Parts: sequence; structure tokens; C-alpha cells
Amino acid sequence: MKTEELIELALEVGFDHAGELNMGALDFRPEVRDMCSSGRCRAYGTRWSCPPAVGDLERSRRRTEKYHRGILVQTTGQMAHDFDSEGILQAEKRHKERFATLVRQIRYGYPDCLPMGTGACTLCRKCTYPDRPCRHPEEMFTSMEGYGLLVNDVAKASGLRYDYGPGTITYSAAVLID
Ligand code: SF4
Repeated sequence: MKTEELIELALEVGFDHAGELNMGALDFRPEVRDMCSSGRCRAYGTRWSCPPAVGDLERSRRRTEKYHRGILVQTTGQMAHDFDSEGILQAEKRHKERFATLVRQIRYGYPDCLPMGTGACTLCRKCTYPDRPCRHPEEMFTSMEGYGLLVNDVAKASGLRYDYGPGTITYSAAVLID
């Protein structure tokens, strides 16, 4: 499929924004890992999807180096107010459902594609990390941040915004195709 067709597919799946991923913007940055380990999202060291389980930045680089194109997809939700946790959760849920659907469809044609999701994996009520293997390794996606990417920069370099204005929350994810 042409990249434009993949973008069209993402929009059909329901994403609010989609565009070609600027592969030159895949810069794996130690400061993003520092944000993970600072405990801001409280997922560090608690999931197979997150650092340190996903390996170091060199592993991120090696995992992505064979890819030459990809797409970036986004879900933007409306928040009733700044602390609208329900609105935030609903937008995240919608985004993750859309992303799982999109990856399933892309994998028909590109079984080796590399999905980069959003936030910590929330598939299981309690992650098996570190005692037992991941229960759903095919459906578990390491986030863009987990790879060490600064999503703000990647989105801008790919012609999309990171923030769609006051009263909105936006989640981003990417699929490296081939
Ligand atoms: S699928 Fe389950 S076991 Fe695997 S990373 Fe996600 S929460 Fe953990």
C-alpha cells in the first residue's frame, strides 16, 4: 500500500489526525528515558511494555533501523475542564482501541511492521512483569516514549501538531511499515 492509502486507512479506523511519519525525526533521547525513570507516569519498572524491560536506546535504534517509512496517528479528545479525568480516560481508551484495530489491519499486508503505541500497556489488570512472560506479546505495544522518542518533536517534524488547543487532549502512536 502507498503511504497515502495507509493514512486513509487510519482515518477510516477513526483517528482524528494521521500523516506520514518523518523517519528522520526518530531520535532516541536519554532525557525521555529520564522522564520515564522519574516515575511521572508510575509505569517504569512495572510493565513489559515499558523501560527498563524494553531495553536501552541502542536496542530502540536497532529495532527501527531497517524501516524506511511509517505513519503517525492521533486521537484528540475534548475535556470538559482541565481536570476532566473521565474525558482523558475515554480519549485514551478510544485511541488504544483504534490503534489495535489499525495494527491488526496493517499486519495483514505487513506482518513485520513495528507498532509504537501510547503510554503503558493496560491490557491486563495486573502485569506479569517481572515474574512471568507477557501474556499478550503480539498485542502489547511499547509506547513512542518507551522507545525514547520525544513525541512533540516527532509530531511537528511529521507535519502534525502535538497539542490541538485548550480543552483538548491528544494521544499519538506510530506504525513503522517497511
Ligand atoms: S499484555 Fe499484560 S502482561 Fe503483557 S505488558 Fe501488557 S499488562 Fe503486562
